[in-house]
Amino acid sequence: MNVKDLTKGAAVSVTDSRVVEQASVDSKLESPRSARRLVVISNRAPIEVIGEGASQVTRRTVGGVANTFVRLLENNGGLWIAWSGGHVAKRLTMPSQNAHLTVLLLGLADREVTHYYHGLCNRALWPLMHLMPQRCHFDGLDWTYYQRVNSSFAHLVAAETVLQDTVWVQDYHLALVPSMVRQMRPGSTIGLFWHVPFPPEPIFRIFPWRAELLRGMLGADLIGFHTRSYTEEFLTACERLLRLKVDHESGVISVNDRRVRVRAFPLGIAAQDFAELAACERVCQRILEIHRAVGTPRIILGVDRLDYTKGIPERLRAFEQFLERNSEYRGRVTMIQIAVPSRERVPAYEQLRSRVEELVGRIVGTFSTDGWVPLRYLHTRLDPEHLIAYYRAAEMALLTPLRDGMNLVAKEFVASRVDDDGVLVLSEFAGAAEELTEAVLVNPYDVEALALKLKQALEIPAAQRAAMMRAMRAKINQNTLDRWGDAFVAELNQSACRAE
Ligand code: UDP
Repeated sequence: MNVKDLTKGAAVSVTDSRVVEQASVDSKLESPRSARRLVVISNRAPIEVIGEGASQVTRRTVGGVANTFVRLLENNGGLWIAWSGGHVAKRLTMPSQNAHLTVLLLGLADREVTHYYHGLCNRALWPLMHLMPQRCHFDGLDWTYYQRVNSSFAHLVAAETVLQDTVWVQDYHLALVPSMVRQMRPGSTIGLFWHVPFPPEPIFRIFPWRAELLRGMLGADLIGFHTRSYTEEFLTACERLLRLKVDHESGVISVNDRRVRVRAFPLGIAAQDFAELAACERVCQRILEIHRAVGTPRIILGVDRLDYTKGIPERLRAFEQFLERNSEYRGRVTMIQIAVPSRERVPAYEQLRSRVEELVGRIVGTFSTDGWVPLRYLHTRLDPEHLIAYYRAAEMALLTPLRDGMNLVAKEFVASRVDDDGVLVLSEFAGAAEELTEAVLVNPYDVEALALKLKQALEIPAAQRAAMMRAMRAKINQNTLDRWGDAFVAELNQSACRAE
């Protein structure tokens, strides 16, 4: 992947949904041409379809993990199965040197979207995985639809793949797919990567369908988490709730006559692409523009989806306390909070937005002076070039999620600091904290301590800042996104070899 992939989408050709049935037969005949074809299954696809009918345009979505999967699929020959985001099913071919990269999109009915996606995924599993049981809503109908949609995905996988394929299921939306596919086709090679945290067993235990969920996941040969601690929580949950034999040392769970391997694969980023873009002329120009607009040389930056797991209100309160207690910093430091709109029609997210905007108004109203606005709030999604300019313009990234599977923004900030400067203040409850131990680690729930740490972090001497950043950049450059994908697929294919 190169910088162009970060900044631009690529066109994709679209095949009408009506041909899906026939095409599935064709793809079955074609599939065994490479040693092991990779089949990725995820809730959403790496493409978006814009418009209707003849004017329909389909584009690759930008950046991140999607690019890694596309590259892996291009290398291995492959198929991606995902929800189309609407009712309509589609088969798409993506331009690639490898003619066998196909995207199959599943259509879901409104009721399925309501109960499977908005219900069980967003209102039950998301808060549960992020240690927020008080936000969980458990509803039997949501679970029924979750099972139904997982079953639709599994049937499509079974119809579209052959035993020699490597099936890689993504995330908590599709936890039952591994066991469903295995039931339909014993002997399949199936991996599962869990992109969110996994909670400690006493919290996971509250999930009404806990055993079914674990059994669903255990249909996989290899289960990956971002960190060792999530891995450990999962092993413990299987041991206590399913009474399975677990080897914590090797991360192996014995399930009947099968051995399921559970391992940490910390998600990386395309570090080189961020570094290149961070050093380019356009970004350097934007950095100057940001400083000119803000008016203070010192910038504290927060970047998050507007999600209740991200700890934005706590962070704003800490900044408020910091300004209250350290009047010498008033007029000299500006905080910029970029809040990417997310799940906007969900009541919990609407409430969060109101709370954040109330705090922003309070801080701006209390501390602004003629010529200085202490806090700038951008409720928007920036493209990579703009975002990287902010990463570079900031003296500090203040990333304080209450719980976060990884937090890629932290890694992107580090990768973008080609000047070896900048301080990362990071929640100890973000997966990235397990790797980026040189960051200033904070407890985001402790607002007073956070306000103190903010001041301390602003006063770290330049030489120490550079040493911390260099150490983190070395790690980010080592564990890249491509290496992550390659490592998972290699280990999954090894498990297939062992089984053969
Ligand atoms: N992001 C973006 N534009 C923005 C803010 C964020 O493209 O204005 C991207 C950012 O580059 C990162 C992703 O959104 O890749 C956020 O990932 P992260 O793991 O930090 O959080 P998530 O939103 O997945 O919970």
